Amino acid sequence: MSHRIPFNKPFIAGKEVEYIAQAVTRGNIGADGHFSVRCADLLQRQTEAHKVLMTPSCTAALEMAALLCDIREGDEVILPSYTFVSSAESFARLGARPVFVDIRPDTLNLDESLVEAAVSDRTRAIMPVHYAGVACEMDEILRVARTHGLRVIEDAAQAVNARYRGRILGGIGDLGAYSFHETKNYSCGEGGALCVNDPALAERAEVIRDKGTNRQAFNRGTAARYTWVDRGSSYTLSDLACAFLSAQLEHMDAITHRRKEIYLRYLEALEPLEAEELLRVPRVPAHCESNYHMFYVLLPDAATRSALIRHLLEHGILSVFHYVPLHLSPMGRSYGYREGQLPVTESLSERVLRLPFYFELEPARQDEVIETLVAYLRGR
Ligand SMILES: *Cc1c(COP(=O)(O)O)cnc(C)c1O
Repeated sequence: MSHRIPFNKPFIAGKEVEYIAQAVTRGNIGADGHFSVRCADLLQRQTEAHKVLMTPSCTAALEMAALLCDIREGDEVILPSYTFVSSAESFARLGARPVFVDIRPDTLNLDESLVEAAVSDRTRAIMPVHYAGVACEMDEILRVARTHGLRVIEDAAQAVNARYRGRILGGIGDLGAYSFHETKNYSCGEGGALCVNDPALAERAEVIRDKGTNRQAFNRGTAARYTWVDRGSSYTLSDLACAFLSAQLEHMDAITHRRKEIYLRYLEALEPLEAEELLRVPRVPAHCESNYHMFYVLLPDAATRSALIRHLLEHGILSVFHYVPLHLSPMGRSYGYREGQLPVTESLSERVLRLPFYFELEPARQDEVIETLVAYLRGR
């Protein structure tokens, strides 16, 4: 179904099409071609990660992270329930039990004050998810991880080019996973990257990404034969996708700047409704630099959200919500979770609504969204 004002829309930032043609002319459209190296270099310079590996998705990067952490049956990983399925499934598929912790009511991020109490002798990793491109409280999360000898895997799918106390998200934990899915800020349709920040994991990360082979070492001349040496899968990204992505990464700051304008226009128009208790706007702590991944509002209750979604749809505007808390999903319940265990997650996930947000969203269109929403909430 198409909407007059969609929720998301692909866009061309610059030389995407030219670069795709160039990839073909250069003679390499598989993995690790010219544009793959370029994307990885751009990201590596920005994150100061030891190594950045391009992947087909953030999901793939998280699966690689779980393999790199040597996750086994019975291990535990601490993460929010209020997140995308891949955060949990990437580790659960190797037998780990997801230990869900509640979120903070202000940022909707993992509540760092609850993390230490969730640590057991089976805990192997903590996965902060930087929701909406706003950082989790990494200082406390890193302290708990250091105290208990745990890995930190940042699910930075939404957080490319966002910062915590000046540091780029995805570059802070042992490993960080990015998404370049079409709904994210910088995109190639489907794509991702793994930031390897702990140098000790770099060589194995290359092997895991290349089907469990030593192909990279062989290509460099440091292995005599090209053969099967470890676990792995095909976690590489086509150079066609990297060509497209290069063109977006080149304009990262311009894209972020445009998104900031959209974000601030929503914020300015909708913040006054907080005083009327009609909604709540997002919070960004002073020490966090957002990448303006999304604009959401928190409505008073689930019924208001459903009615507002319908009202916006009648005006050709698509707004969306997420997530069904993972602890209340069929898979989450299979681990024994039930209602009432994570009250903040359960309350907020029913009330969050994401408004149309894309690079080419024209001010006049955005004002229509704002006016339709405000008129509905004030008119009830
Ligand atoms: C989008 C997203 C993912 C998955 O990204 P893919 O690239 O589609 O695999 C994972 N975690 C979070 C928090 C996301 O928003």
